[in-house]
Amino acid sequence: MAKISMKTPLVEIDGDEMTRVLWEVIKEKLLLPFIDLKSEYYDLGLKNRDDTNDEVTVKSAQAIKRLGVGVKCATITSNVARQKEYDLKQLLPSPNATIRAILDGTVFRKPIQISRVKPSVNTWKAPIVIGRHAYGDVYKAAEMEIEGPGKVELVYTKSDGTERRMTVADFEGSGIVQGMHNLDESIRSFARACFLYAITEKLPLWFATKDTISKIYDGRFKTIFNEIYETEFREKCAGAGVQYFYTLIDDAVARVVKGEGGFLWACKNYDGDVQSDMIASAAGSLAMMTSVLVSPSGVFEYEAAHGTVQQHYYRWQKGEKTSTNPAALIFAWSGALAKRAEIDGLDALANFAKRLEKAVLDAIEDGIMTGDLAKLSDPAPSMVLNSWDFIDAVAARVRG
Ligand code: NAP
Ligand code: MG
Repeated sequence: MAKISMKTPLVEIDGDEMTRVLWEVIKEKLLLPFIDLKSEYYDLGLKNRDDTNDEVTVKSAQAIKRLGVGVKCATITSNVARQKEYDLKQLLPSPNATIRAILDGTVFRKPIQISRVKPSVNTWKAPIVIGRHAYGDVYKAAEMEIEGPGKVELVYTKSDGTERRMTVADFEGSGIVQGMHNLDESIRSFARACFLYAITEKLPLWFATKDTISKIYDGRFKTIFNEIYETEFREKCAGAGVQYFYTLIDDAVARVVKGEGGFLWACKNYDGDVQSDMIASAAGSLAMMTSVLVSPSGVFEYEAAHGTVQQHYYRWQKGEKTSTNPAALIFAWSGALAKRAEIDGLDALANFAKRLEKAVLDAIEDGIMTGDLAKLSDPAPSMVLNSWDFIDAVAARVRG
């Protein structure tokens, strides 16, 4: 059988531990036999990031900017324990944070739904997608411990040297204080990415903040979303049959658990962090959560939402064939291949990406799955496989 050809290379970003092990197996069994794979490879394994003083991470993000589509394996974010474990020269920032800062994106997370794993919320009929703003707020905050009595002020020194001041609190005893910020341009990018995703996927778009309490800060998010909708997307949304709905965050949360799902929920940074874990676990398993970073410049990076599955890796090193679920990693590849196919106009590649996803879903629906899903499956699975045998079962279904 002739292999499916590609036009433009994908940016392939390798990673760490169990996901790095599975990455190889997925390529060998599910991609290379079928596709004449074109990729520009970057090794973001922890040791290589250290050896290159993280230059490889920056280069991989620039490559995504240049080529348009990337697929990324999970990577270790270094800390003191990892520094010892890998004998590192330095502690480096999270690769995802570095890549996001360069691409300035919004992260969309969508659970892979299967009928054998019922969501905890029994009214949900379709997946809820989270669109998480990936810049600022509490993730870039300045914090201070207040030892005792005294006044804390916000001071804004303008570039012309003039000042604006505001009292945050008059402390009578000890306490804490935090200052956070966001940028209009970043919020605009966030809004645009959400409207574009909603229109592409034909999903209603929900956005919620706490603007009743935070009239200026959250109020600005509400205003900017509304401006972007009115000036750039009202007609496009109408054309695609996509509704934009704004509400208060408490109202949104209440509606989410009573609703049928099937919408994009745009979340501020912290809300998205917390709610995406809630959505993932209510939908089934972290191993079934896909993730794509959409940049306002129109480039895309696909990955699994989970980490490197460290504990499974240590067991694999001791010789165990672990039952780690490769589904979200496979969907990262299929998502990236489908996007490449869409941009380059390659029907055969687009069809292959669909076939690959269907093969994963069919295997699971046939009762063949990894251990994490076996615990949740109703009816009970017919076969619980290790990752290698599961990938073989998927490959058999891709061959058809
Ligand atoms: P994790 O790798 O997501 O794993 C946490 C637990 O979730 C696992 O121990 C496992 O539970 C379950 N799990 C996750 N993915 C699974 C899969 N595919 N199949 C089966 N079970 C799965 O998070 P972590 O162990 O806290 O973090 C490990 C490393 O990943 C850290 O160094 C962190 O920096 C990194 N990380 C990277 C990314 C990224 O690159 N996007 C994201 C998050 C974390 P059981 O042990 O109960 O089986
Ligand atoms: Mg989180």
